[in-house]
Amino acid sequence: MASETSPDESLFDSPEFVTRLTRVAQLWHYVLVSRVLVYFACAFFPGLPGFFDRPSQWLVLGLGIGCDLVLTVIGQLSRSPHRGLPERIGLWCTTVMGLIALGTMLTSVAMFVNGGGMGGGPYVDAFSAIRVGTVLVAASAVAIARPAFFTFAGATALGGAIGKASVPFALAAMIFLLLLIVMVREDVRHQNRTRRAKRKAASEQQRALNLVRDFERAGRGWFWETDRHGQLVYISQTVAAKLGRSASSLIGKPFTDIIRKRIGNDESEERTLGFSLSSRTPFKELTVQAAVQGEERWWSISGHPISNELGNFQGFRGSGTDLTEKKKSEREINQLARYDVLTGLANRLHITDLLERALRNHIGQPQPCALLLMDLDRFKAVNDTLGHPVGDQLLQQVAARLTQIIGDKGQVGRLGGDEFQIVLPQITQPDKLANIANSIILSLAKPFAIEGEQVRVGSSIGISVSEGAGVPSSALVRNADLALYAAKDAGRGVYRFYADAMHDQASERKAIEDALRDALAKDELRLVYQPIVDVASERVSGFEALIRWQRGNAEMISPSKFIPIAEESNLIVPIGEWIIRSACDAIVKLGPDYRVAVNVSPRQFANEKLPATIMGAVSAAGIRPEQLELEITEGIFLDESPENLEMFQRLKRTGVRLALDDFGTGYSALGYLKKAPFDKIKIDQSFVRGAADPSSMNAAIISSIVGLAAALKMETTAEGVETHDDLELIRGLGCSHVQGYIYGKPMALTDALDLIRSGGGRVSAEGYKSAREPRRLTFRTIHVESGGYRYEAIIRNVSTRGALIEGLWNVPEGTSFRLEFGPDLIVDAQARWSEQNRVGVQFAQAVEIAALIGNVAPAPVRARIDRAA
Ligand code: C2E
Ligand code: CA
Ligand code: CA
Repeated sequence: MASETSPDESLFDSPEFVTRLTRVAQLWHYVLVSRVLVYFACAFFPGLPGFFDRPSQWLVLGLGIGCDLVLTVIGQLSRSPHRGLPERIGLWCTTVMGLIALGTMLTSVAMFVNGGGMGGGPYVDAFSAIRVGTVLVAASAVAIARPAFFTFAGATALGGAIGKASVPFALAAMIFLLLLIVMVREDVRHQNRTRRAKRKAASEQQRALNLVRDFERAGRGWFWETDRHGQLVYISQTVAAKLGRSASSLIGKPFTDIIRKRIGNDESEERTLGFSLSSRTPFKELTVQAAVQGEERWWSISGHPISNELGNFQGFRGSGTDLTEKKKSEREINQLARYDVLTGLANRLHITDLLERALRNHIGQPQPCALLLMDLDRFKAVNDTLGHPVGDQLLQQVAARLTQIIGDKGQVGRLGGDEFQIVLPQITQPDKLANIANSIILSLAKPFAIEGEQVRVGSSIGISVSEGAGVPSSALVRNADLALYAAKDAGRGVYRFYADAMHDQASERKAIEDALRDALAKDELRLVYQPIVDVASERVSGFEALIRWQRGNAEMISPSKFIPIAEESNLIVPIGEWIIRSACDAIVKLGPDYRVAVNVSPRQFANEKLPATIMGAVSAAGIRPEQLELEITEGIFLDESPENLEMFQRLKRTGVRLALDDFGTGYSALGYLKKAPFDKIKIDQSFVRGAADPSSMNAAIISSIVGLAAALKMETTAEGVETHDDLELIRGLGCSHVQGYIYGKPMALTDALDLIRSGGGRVSAEGYKSAREPRRLTFRTIHVESGGYRYEAIIRNVSTRGALIEGLWNVPEGTSFRLEFGPDLIVDAQARWSEQNRVGVQFAQAVEIAALIGNVAPAPVRARIDRAA
């Protein structure tokens, strides 16, 4: 059945009409009976005189009854249950309508043809009654289908008019008929229109309903409606199911029952909902939590008040959608946005936020807080040599150690790379902070086991503190940054508190950088040369060129200070070129028997043009390339990147010699040397100095380095030899070369030339016999004060001039101390060297050992260090 209705649809296409017309046909036997009755009345009962004489009467009436008979048969046939609608509806309808019209008209003609000819009297009334009755019987049947009724009415009128054969009546009937046709048309049109509109409205309603159902069923959203008391009158089945209830059980319950009441800071949306409901104002997309037991479910709900025609409030109607998944992914995104993926620590954004919050309480008042900035020493080397997966694991383990140490005292965050930040709210006491920093440094100095290997890194820490004076977080971070800088500057593996002077240091750095830019042009740089001596023959084999900078007419600036600045600002490249050219010129002056070594810093090494610069300088000076030696520190050597190895090969091809500088300070394994094309290893001063001291392990280390180097046909130079004792030891250990004050300090080129000329290329050792005098071993805990902070440390041995202190990490050379041996026994001292947690200090003046460490046998006090030769 077509539910759609085209505008030009015919009446017969209307199923409603067809049904009604069928019903008319089905009832037609009553009409048939009534007309047959008319026939019999006319023909037999009192009878019409001459009925059978007038065919216009008996024949026409008979024909009409014939039509009725056919229609009755059609009607009865349509009753049969297995017959649906007739196949050709149009034809069927036309036939039925035609039969109604024809039957009615013929009957009407026959009944009116001689109605008046009976001369009045009771017969007339009887016949009229029968006629009216018949008409009414038929009329009540056709009334079922309005068009059929019109047809019937028309046919009655026309038939009557024809029957009477009265011209004016026939005319009137014709007009009546015309009117009827117009009326039928209009009525049909109107009916069609209303039917169509009705059907459309119904189907639209149905469609809307279906859509709503589908929408609900898909679980995409749900609907709700309340009465004026806020009690549910409708709620989607799906959402009721989610709540573990049936929709019917929720009806009549307050709408707010399906929303979880929360206490906490996130309840603003909930409050908005309450407000909207009570103020009868619309609300849109409020995020609320569903009152579902044991599950976290989020909804977004919207609603608006509804009112009746009179404008009276009737309740709320609205919709809701499920936000749970969205919330979850939001939370995941949030997690990603706030935490470092690798370590799980707070990321830069989050830790900055935490610092901000630690600095102010919830009402915005400043609070005390400390900030630790930590940086791993030599992490890059580990990452580059052992690979990024190892680097990643290292960072994870570092993060784990840090979180363990900090516990709930504060928050650890990773800023990126090997930089970590620790926020410690409410802690400002220097000793507490120093303790924390010390534990971190100690903990991170222990080896990390990664993939069966032991990896070692160190750490440096900068500390800044806000006492609750409302220091902005940015200032705190900057201060910690400066303190970290100072810690690294102090030789790494230490912590530093921020001090205002550090700002000056930072600006001093800047000033140095600016001045260094002009230093080359102003001719402020020069090279000094320190002899390197063959141990066996005491012949000078060459010199190490060391840079000096006389800034303006002012002070000398140590290369240890300005070389790192030159590195950072890339000024090292032009300066390095100048050094190489100057060194080559010096080689020319020194003659073919001598070599000159220059230091090549990592930045220079990374510079593509280095081999070309070297070859240019060598050929310009006209020297043999092997007279030039490049000293490269372990740091570069550790980085096994393809570019690095390529650079090693390119340098090797220029024919210059390569020396591994400061060996032992880094972390390269001895076995590593086998792969490297070095001609020489320079053993770092920290191993050499004091190696003769029986308590030190250094001799054993030097011995193994020398053994390996010899096996690899490399020379060894022991750096920093100052005393005869050390020289003897070095000689005994088989080092091939020595460089140190004992054979000469770095000197101007003219002095170097004098040196080799006067001695015929030979030099003799000149220096102290030994670095230290006899010392007492102790195990005493004392307090050490430095830079305004107090630490606890252990005195391991002590002499009249100095002591070995354990428990202070990587103290930079030159640091001043006050050692508290007792309440009245305070000794000023200065760090001379430091290694890991040990520091060697020199007292400001000689002291009595017995007075310091109490009841021990007094050591033989010697007034001064022995001077040998
Ligand atoms: P380095 O390459 O290890 O140089 C050896 C340093 O030890 C020099 O200090 C030298 O004066 C010092 N020294 C040598 N013998 C002794 C000794 O017996 N006792 C003591 N206490 N010290 C001794 P200097 O000249 O201050 O240089 C420090 C560092 O600065 C150098 O360490 C090197 O890393 C860097 N440097 C110096 N000149 C240059 C240069 O021309 N280029 C580059 N890139 N770096 C340089
Ligand atoms: Ca060097
Ligand atoms: Ca060195």
